[in-house]
Amino acid sequence: MIELIGMDLAELEKMSKDQGQPSFRGKQLFSWLYDKRVSSFDEMTNLPKRWREELKEKAKISYPQVVDRQVNSMDGTTKYLLELTDGNTIEAVLLRYRHGNSVCISTQVGCQMGCRFCASTIGGLQRNLTASEMLAQLLAIYRDWPTEEEEKRISHVVLMGIGEPLENYEEVMKFLRLVHEPAGFNISYRNITLSTSGLIWGIRKLMKEELPITLAVSLHAPNDALRSTLMPINKKNPLKQLIPVCNEYGESTGRRVTYEYILIDRVNDRVEHARELANLLRGSLAHVNLIPLNPVEERDFNPSKPEAVTKFRDILSERGISVTVRRELGKEIDAACGQLRRSREKL
Ligand code: SAH
Repeated sequence: MIELIGMDLAELEKMSKDQGQPSFRGKQLFSWLYDKRVSSFDEMTNLPKRWREELKEKAKISYPQVVDRQVNSMDGTTKYLLELTDGNTIEAVLLRYRHGNSVCISTQVGCQMGCRFCASTIGGLQRNLTASEMLAQLLAIYRDWPTEEEEKRISHVVLMGIGEPLENYEEVMKFLRLVHEPAGFNISYRNITLSTSGLIWGIRKLMKEELPITLAVSLHAPNDALRSTLMPINKKNPLKQLIPVCNEYGESTGRRVTYEYILIDRVNDRVEHARELANLLRGSLAHVNLIPLNPVEERDFNPSKPEAVTKFRDILSERGISVTVRRELGKEIDAACGQLRRSREKL
Protein backbone atom coordinates (compact mmCIF):
# COMPACT_ATOMS: atom_id res chain seq x y z
CA MET A 1 0.00 0.00 0.00
CA ILE A 2 1.27 3.45 -0.87
CA GLU A 3 0.84 6.12 1.82
CA LEU A 4 -0.41 9.28 0.12
CA ILE A 5 -0.08 11.69 3.04
CA GLY A 6 3.40 13.15 2.85
CA MET A 7 3.73 12.81 -0.92
CA ASP A 8 4.55 16.05 -2.64
CA LEU A 9 3.15 17.24 -5.97
CA ALA A 10 5.92 15.68 -8.07
CA GLU A 11 5.46 12.33 -6.32
CA LEU A 12 1.69 12.38 -6.76
CA GLU A 13 2.08 13.26 -10.43
CA LYS A 14 4.51 10.43 -10.93
CA MET A 15 2.23 7.98 -9.16
CA SER A 16 -0.70 9.07 -11.33
CA LYS A 17 1.36 8.57 -14.47
CA ASP A 18 2.59 5.17 -13.27
CA GLN A 19 -1.03 4.18 -12.94
CA GLY A 20 -1.84 5.25 -16.47
CA GLN A 21 -3.46 8.58 -15.56
CA PRO A 22 -2.59 12.00 -16.95
CA SER A 23 -0.25 13.86 -14.62
CA PHE A 24 -2.80 16.60 -13.80
CA ARG A 25 -4.51 13.96 -11.67
CA GLY A 26 -1.58 14.44 -9.31
CA LYS A 27 -2.60 18.06 -8.81
CA GLN A 28 -6.17 17.04 -8.14
CA LEU A 29 -5.04 14.50 -5.57
CA PHE A 30 -2.78 17.08 -3.96
CA SER A 31 -5.68 19.44 -3.56
CA TRP A 32 -7.97 16.75 -2.09
CA LEU A 33 -5.34 15.69 0.40
CA TYR A 34 -3.95 19.01 1.60
CA ASP A 35 -6.41 21.75 0.68
CA LYS A 36 -9.80 20.08 0.94
CA ARG A 37 -8.37 17.54 3.38
CA VAL A 38 -10.58 14.57 2.70
CA SER A 39 -9.59 11.13 3.94
CA SER A 40 -11.59 8.83 1.67
CA PHE A 41 -11.30 8.27 -2.07
CA ASP A 42 -15.08 8.39 -2.51
CA GLU A 43 -15.02 12.09 -1.70
CA MET A 44 -12.57 12.82 -4.54
CA THR A 45 -15.39 13.42 -6.96
CA ASN A 46 -13.39 14.79 -9.89
CA LEU A 47 -11.33 11.61 -10.19
CA PRO A 48 -12.66 8.86 -12.50
CA LYS A 49 -14.64 6.31 -10.51
CA ARG A 50 -12.62 3.39 -11.85
CA TRP A 51 -9.37 4.93 -10.76
CA ARG A 52 -10.81 5.68 -7.31
CA GLU A 53 -11.63 1.98 -6.93
CA GLU A 54 -8.11 1.12 -8.00
CA LEU A 55 -6.63 3.61 -5.54
CA LYS A 56 -8.61 2.05 -2.70
CA GLU A 57 -6.67 -1.13 -3.29
CA LYS A 58 -3.26 0.39 -3.87
CA ALA A 59 -3.08 3.45 -1.66
CA LYS A 60 -4.04 4.67 1.76
CA ILE A 61 -4.55 7.95 3.60
CA SER A 62 -3.52 7.59 7.24
CA TYR A 63 -4.55 9.99 9.94
CA PRO A 64 -3.41 9.39 13.51
CA GLN A 65 -6.14 8.54 16.04
CA VAL A 66 -6.99 11.08 18.69
CA VAL A 67 -6.68 9.07 21.92
CA ASP A 68 -6.87 11.98 24.32
CA ARG A 69 -7.69 15.62 24.01
CA GLN A 70 -7.47 18.22 26.77
CA VAL A 71 -9.02 21.64 26.28
CA ASN A 72 -8.10 24.58 28.44
CA SER A 73 -11.37 26.36 29.09
CA MET A 74 -9.62 29.70 29.71
CA ASP A 75 -7.65 30.18 26.52
CA GLY A 76 -8.84 27.37 24.22
CA THR A 77 -5.42 25.70 24.06
CA THR A 78 -6.05 22.10 23.08
CA LYS A 79 -3.57 19.35 23.56
CA TYR A 80 -3.90 16.14 21.58
CA LEU A 81 -2.45 12.76 22.29
CA LEU A 82 -2.27 11.01 18.93
CA GLU A 83 -1.71 7.35 18.17
CA LEU A 84 0.28 6.49 15.06
CA THR A 85 -0.40 3.43 12.92
CA ASP A 86 2.36 1.48 14.72
CA GLY A 87 0.81 2.15 18.13
CA ASN A 88 3.33 4.81 19.22
CA THR A 89 1.87 7.99 20.67
CA ILE A 90 2.88 11.61 20.14
CA GLU A 91 1.54 15.02 21.11
CA ALA A 92 0.37 18.04 19.16
CA VAL A 93 -1.08 21.26 20.52
CA LEU A 94 -3.47 23.79 19.02
CA LEU A 95 -2.79 27.29 20.34
CA ARG A 96 -5.31 30.08 19.82
CA TYR A 97 -3.86 33.54 19.38
CA ARG A 98 -5.42 36.77 18.23
CA HIS A 99 -3.15 36.70 15.19
CA GLY A 100 -4.25 33.19 14.21
CA ASN A 101 -4.18 29.52 15.11
CA SER A 102 -0.88 27.86 15.66
CA VAL A 103 -0.12 24.16 15.90
CA CYS A 104 2.83 22.78 17.79
CA ILE A 105 3.91 19.44 16.34
CA SER A 106 6.19 16.60 17.40
CA THR A 107 9.07 15.54 15.17
CA GLN A 108 10.20 12.33 16.89
CA VAL A 109 8.74 9.61 19.10
CA GLY A 110 10.63 10.37 22.30
CA CYS A 111 13.92 12.24 22.36
CA GLN A 112 17.56 11.49 23.02
CA MET A 113 18.79 14.94 24.02
CA GLY A 114 18.60 14.18 27.74
CA CYS A 115 17.60 17.66 29.02
CA ARG A 116 17.17 17.38 32.77
CA PHE A 117 13.90 19.31 33.06
CA CYS A 118 12.06 17.69 30.17
CA ALA A 119 9.53 14.84 30.16
CA SER A 120 10.00 13.89 26.49
CA THR A 121 13.44 12.45 26.95
CA ILE A 122 12.72 10.24 29.95
CA GLY A 123 11.98 7.12 27.91
CA GLY A 124 14.67 7.88 25.29
CA LEU A 125 14.15 7.99 21.53
CA GLN A 126 11.94 5.37 19.84
CA ARG A 127 12.14 6.60 16.28
CA ASN A 128 11.94 9.55 13.91
CA LEU A 129 8.61 10.68 12.53
CA THR A 130 8.15 10.78 8.77
CA ALA A 131 7.10 13.97 6.96
CA SER A 132 3.79 12.20 6.47
CA GLU A 133 3.31 11.77 10.21
CA MET A 134 4.21 15.41 10.85
CA LEU A 135 1.69 16.61 8.30
CA ALA A 136 -0.94 14.20 9.58
CA GLN A 137 -0.83 15.92 12.97
CA LEU A 138 -2.24 19.03 11.31
CA LEU A 139 -4.83 16.97 9.46
CA ALA A 140 -5.94 15.25 12.66
CA ILE A 141 -6.41 18.62 14.36
CA TYR A 142 -8.35 20.06 11.43
CA ARG A 143 -10.67 17.08 11.64
CA ASP A 144 -10.99 17.20 15.42
CA TRP A 145 -11.32 20.99 15.74
CA PRO A 146 -12.41 21.69 19.33
CA THR A 147 -14.91 24.47 18.62
CA GLU A 148 -17.60 25.22 16.07
CA GLU A 149 -16.19 27.68 13.57
CA GLU A 150 -17.09 28.65 10.06
CA GLU A 151 -13.54 29.12 8.93
CA LYS A 152 -10.97 26.82 10.44
CA ARG A 153 -7.46 27.87 9.57
CA ILE A 154 -4.07 26.89 10.87
CA SER A 155 -1.80 29.80 9.96
CA HIS A 156 1.27 29.07 12.06
CA VAL A 157 3.30 25.96 12.79
CA VAL A 158 5.89 25.51 15.51
CA LEU A 159 8.20 22.50 15.65
CA MET A 160 8.39 22.51 19.40
CA GLY A 161 6.65 19.30 20.45
CA ILE A 162 8.34 16.02 21.31
CA GLY A 163 11.74 15.48 19.72
CA GLU A 164 14.71 17.37 18.36
CA PRO A 165 13.76 18.47 14.83
CA LEU A 166 17.33 18.92 13.57
CA GLU A 167 18.13 15.29 14.45
CA ASN A 168 15.42 14.29 11.95
CA TYR A 169 16.64 16.75 9.34
CA GLU A 170 15.55 15.28 5.99
CA GLU A 171 11.99 14.46 6.98
CA VAL A 172 11.59 17.82 8.72
CA MET A 173 12.73 19.61 5.54
CA LYS A 174 10.30 17.60 3.46
CA PHE A 175 7.52 18.50 5.89
CA LEU A 176 8.42 22.21 5.79
CA ARG A 177 8.29 22.32 2.01
CA LEU A 178 4.98 20.47 1.90
CA VAL A 179 3.25 22.55 4.51
CA HIS A 180 4.39 25.70 2.73
CA GLU A 181 3.06 24.63 -0.68
CA PRO A 182 0.51 27.31 -1.72
CA ALA A 183 -1.86 24.78 -3.34
CA GLY A 184 -2.08 22.90 -0.05
CA PHE A 185 -1.73 24.13 3.54
CA ASN A 186 -0.21 27.36 2.26
CA ILE A 187 1.62 28.26 5.45
CA SER A 188 4.19 30.99 4.93
CA TYR A 189 7.75 30.19 6.03
CA ARG A 190 7.64 33.34 8.12
CA ASN A 191 4.90 31.71 10.17
CA ILE A 192 6.98 28.63 10.90
CA THR A 193 9.27 28.32 13.91
CA LEU A 194 11.74 25.53 14.43
CA SER A 195 12.90 25.02 18.00
CA THR A 196 16.20 23.30 18.70
CA SER A 197 18.19 22.42 21.76
CA GLY A 198 21.06 24.13 19.91
CA LEU A 199 22.76 21.70 17.52
CA ILE A 200 25.36 23.81 15.73
CA TRP A 201 25.78 21.58 12.68
CA GLY A 202 22.02 21.57 12.18
CA ILE A 203 21.62 25.34 12.44
CA ARG A 204 24.38 25.76 9.86
CA LYS A 205 22.70 23.33 7.52
CA LEU A 206 19.31 24.98 7.97
CA MET A 207 20.85 28.37 7.18
CA LYS A 208 21.99 27.06 3.80
CA GLU A 209 18.38 26.26 2.85
CA GLU A 210 17.76 30.03 2.78
CA LEU A 211 14.21 29.76 4.07
CA PRO A 212 12.92 32.63 6.23
CA ILE A 213 11.79 30.37 9.06
CA THR A 214 12.23 31.55 12.62
CA LEU A 215 14.84 29.77 14.66
CA ALA A 216 14.11 29.23 18.35
CA VAL A 217 16.93 28.03 20.55
CA SER A 218 16.40 26.47 23.95
CA LEU A 219 19.01 28.32 25.96
CA HIS A 220 17.96 27.97 29.61
CA ALA A 221 21.32 29.11 31.05
CA PRO A 222 23.67 32.04 30.46
CA ASN A 223 26.95 30.13 30.85
CA ASP A 224 28.41 26.79 29.80
CA ALA A 225 28.89 25.37 33.29
CA LEU A 226 25.22 25.69 34.19
CA ARG A 227 23.93 24.88 30.71
CA SER A 228 25.93 21.66 30.59
CA THR A 229 24.33 20.46 33.82
CA LEU A 230 20.82 21.14 32.44
CA MET A 231 21.43 20.16 28.83
CA PRO A 232 24.13 17.55 28.15
CA ILE A 233 24.26 18.58 24.47
CA ASN A 234 25.91 21.82 25.57
CA LYS A 235 29.21 19.99 26.02
CA LYS A 236 29.52 19.52 22.27
CA ASN A 237 27.67 22.73 21.40
CA PRO A 238 29.07 25.35 23.76
CA LEU A 239 27.72 28.90 23.92
CA LYS A 240 30.80 30.58 22.45
CA GLN A 241 30.16 28.68 19.24
CA LEU A 242 26.38 28.47 19.43
CA ILE A 243 25.61 32.18 19.82
CA PRO A 244 27.75 33.31 16.83
CA VAL A 245 26.08 30.68 14.63
CA CYS A 246 22.65 31.89 15.76
CA ASN A 247 23.71 35.47 15.01
CA GLU A 248 24.71 34.37 11.55
CA TYR A 249 21.34 32.67 11.11
CA GLY A 250 19.59 35.87 12.15
CA GLU A 251 21.63 37.99 9.78
CA SER A 252 21.28 35.68 6.81
CA THR A 253 17.51 35.24 7.16
CA GLY A 254 16.71 38.71 8.51
CA ARG A 255 14.64 36.98 11.21
CA ARG A 256 15.49 37.56 14.81
CA VAL A 257 16.34 34.45 16.74
CA THR A 258 14.17 33.54 19.71
CA TYR A 259 15.93 32.26 22.79
CA GLU A 260 13.74 30.22 25.07
CA TYR A 261 14.67 30.42 28.71
CA ILE A 262 12.78 28.28 31.21
CA LEU A 263 12.88 29.85 34.65
CA ILE A 264 13.70 27.25 37.30
CA ASP A 265 13.53 28.23 40.94
CA ARG A 266 16.99 29.07 42.32
CA VAL A 267 18.73 27.21 39.50
CA ASN A 268 18.93 29.73 36.65
CA ASP A 269 16.69 32.61 37.80
CA ARG A 270 19.00 34.76 39.89
CA VAL A 271 19.89 38.38 39.28
CA GLU A 272 23.41 37.43 38.21
CA HIS A 273 22.02 34.97 35.66
CA ALA A 274 19.90 37.72 34.12
CA ARG A 275 22.89 40.06 33.90
CA GLU A 276 25.06 37.35 32.39
CA LEU A 277 22.35 36.58 29.84
CA ALA A 278 22.08 40.23 28.86
CA ASN A 279 25.85 40.30 28.27
CA LEU A 280 25.74 37.10 26.27
CA LEU A 281 23.10 38.46 23.89
CA ARG A 282 24.23 42.07 23.68
CA GLY A 283 24.34 43.15 20.04
CA SER A 284 22.47 40.07 18.77
CA LEU A 285 19.30 40.21 16.69
CA ALA A 286 17.48 38.31 19.41
CA HIS A 287 14.33 37.97 21.43
CA VAL A 288 14.15 36.21 24.79
CA ASN A 289 11.07 34.23 25.70
CA LEU A 290 10.93 33.54 29.42
CA ILE A 291 8.92 30.46 30.29
CA PRO A 292 8.00 29.55 33.83
CA LEU A 293 8.92 25.86 34.21
CA ASN A 294 6.12 23.34 33.97
CA PRO A 295 6.92 20.95 36.79
CA VAL A 296 7.52 17.36 35.67
CA GLU A 297 6.86 14.73 38.32
CA GLU A 298 10.09 12.79 37.76
CA ARG A 299 12.21 15.93 37.84
CA ASP A 300 13.33 17.70 40.94
CA PHE A 301 12.80 21.27 39.71
CA ASN A 302 10.27 23.95 40.63
CA PRO A 303 9.06 26.96 38.69
CA SER A 304 10.50 30.34 39.67
CA LYS A 305 8.55 32.58 42.01
CA PRO A 306 6.55 35.30 40.22
CA GLU A 307 8.79 38.01 41.76
CA ALA A 308 11.88 36.32 40.34
CA VAL A 309 10.27 36.15 36.89
CA THR A 310 9.43 39.87 36.94
CA LYS A 311 12.87 40.83 38.18
CA PHE A 312 14.58 38.67 35.56
CA ARG A 313 12.50 40.23 32.81
CA ASP A 314 13.18 43.76 34.04
CA ILE A 315 16.93 43.25 34.15
CA LEU A 316 16.98 42.08 30.54
CA SER A 317 14.67 44.84 29.46
CA GLU A 318 16.71 47.56 31.17
CA ARG A 319 19.74 46.31 29.30
CA GLY A 320 18.01 46.68 25.95
CA ILE A 321 17.20 43.01 25.36
CA SER A 322 13.82 42.34 23.76
CA VAL A 323 12.00 40.05 26.20
CA THR A 324 8.55 38.62 26.91
CA VAL A 325 7.21 36.25 29.51
CA ARG A 326 5.31 33.55 27.70
CA ARG A 327 1.63 33.52 28.42
CA GLU A 328 1.21 30.23 30.21
CA LEU A 329 -0.98 28.62 27.63
CA GLY A 330 -2.08 25.25 28.75
CA LYS A 331 -0.95 25.25 32.32
CA GLU A 332 -3.99 23.41 33.59
CA ILE A 333 -3.48 20.73 30.99
CA ASP A 334 -0.29 18.67 30.68
CA ALA A 335 1.09 21.06 28.11
CA ALA A 336 4.85 20.97 28.57
CA CYS A 337 6.86 18.97 26.11
CA GLY A 338 6.13 15.26 26.51
CA GLN A 339 3.96 15.52 29.59
CA LEU A 340 0.69 14.21 28.23
CA ARG A 341 2.37 11.26 26.59
CA ARG A 342 4.30 10.57 29.76
CA SER A 343 1.23 10.70 31.99
CA ARG A 344 -0.44 8.14 29.69
CA GLU A 345 2.53 5.79 29.79
CA LYS A 346 2.33 5.66 33.55
CA LEU A 347 -1.31 4.56 33.70
N1 SAH B 1 14.12 19.74 21.09
C1 SAH B 1 13.64 21.04 20.75
C2 SAH B 1 12.14 21.15 20.64
C3 SAH B 1 11.29 20.41 21.65
S1 SAH B 1 11.29 21.02 23.30
C4 SAH B 1 14.16 22.06 21.75
O1 SAH B 1 14.86 21.67 22.67
O2 SAH B 1 13.93 23.24 21.58
C5 SAH B 1 10.31 22.47 23.21
C6 SAH B 1 10.55 23.47 24.31
O3 SAH B 1 9.92 23.02 25.54
C7 SAH B 1 12.00 23.68 24.61
O4 SAH B 1 12.32 25.03 24.75
C8 SAH B 1 12.14 22.94 25.92
O5 SAH B 1 13.27 23.37 26.59
C9 SAH B 1 10.82 23.25 26.59
N2 SAH B 1 10.51 22.43 27.75
C10 SAH B 1 10.87 21.17 28.00
N3 SAH B 1 10.47 20.77 29.22
C11 SAH B 1 9.82 21.81 29.77
C12 SAH B 1 9.18 22.04 31.02
N4 SAH B 1 9.12 21.08 31.94
N5 SAH B 1 8.63 23.25 31.26
C13 SAH B 1 8.68 24.22 30.30
N6 SAH B 1 9.26 24.07 29.11
C14 SAH B 1 9.83 22.88 28.84
